[in-house]
Amino acid sequence: MHSLSTQVLIVGAGPAGLATAIGLAQRGVDFVIVDALDEAQNTSRAAVIHAATLDSLRALSLSDRLVAQGIEVPQFRIRERDAVLFDASFAGLPTPTPFALMIPQDETERIFIDRLAELGHVVRRPVRLTSARRCLCSSRRRARWWWRRCRASAIGWWRNWPMLPRLRRWRTCSV
Ligand SMILES: Cc1cc2nc3c(=O)[nH]c(=O)nc-3n(C[C@H](O)[C@H](O)[C@H](O)COP(=O)(O)OP(=O)(O)OC[C@H]3O[C@@H](n4cnc5c(N)ncnc54)[C@H](O)[C@@H]3O)c2cc1C
Repeated sequence: MHSLSTQVLIVGAGPAGLATAIGLAQRGVDFVIVDALDEAQNTSRAAVIHAATLDSLRALSLSDRLVAQGIEVPQFRIRERDAVLFDASFAGLPTPTPFALMIPQDETERIFIDRLAELGHVVRRPVRLTSARRCLCSSRRRARWWWRRCRASAIGWWRNWPMLPRLRRWRTCSV
């Protein structure tokens, strides 16, 4: 069993974990992302990404890459022989990508992993989280730092408060 120490641990390199990792990497936040599997799954799972999801992924510079690899579906229709049972058009959606995008999930994950690599991070595999512990040392250190800061500013406030000398004088007179 190995142990590792980090401020942010992302467990699982599916689409959710990878998107979180990319978001943190873009903001320069330090993290570790692990996955129990030896390699990314290559089975067929989710096949469609909706327009609103593409909008969210644009901030992670993923949207255009996914669109370049997928098939744009501007209209969804269910038929029974000649009869149209259901017809939905995505064309009117207020977004730069008004369509559903057909792309297999393993392809989506590969694009996410490539983007993460561009930002200088890799998924650590195979690493299965078996237990986690909050490190009290670092929280105690942070608490001590905050206490010193508060105390320093309280002392500064006390010394610089303009009314203070007058109040001290008043106390001296009345005693
Ligand atoms: C057969 C199938 C078909 C599907 N079809 C569709 C579809 O058509 N449309 C759709 O929208 N969705 C579909 N889904 C659902 C879609 O695949 C999931 O919603 C999506 O994968 C969830 O992403 P995620 O990142 O939350 O989790 P996941 O993709 O499940 O990723 C979780 C990761 O965490 C890792 N992990 C778990 N526990 C640990 C641990 N203790 N330590 C380390 N790593 C760990 C796992 O190995 C895994 O890689 C389908 C799913 C399946 C199985």
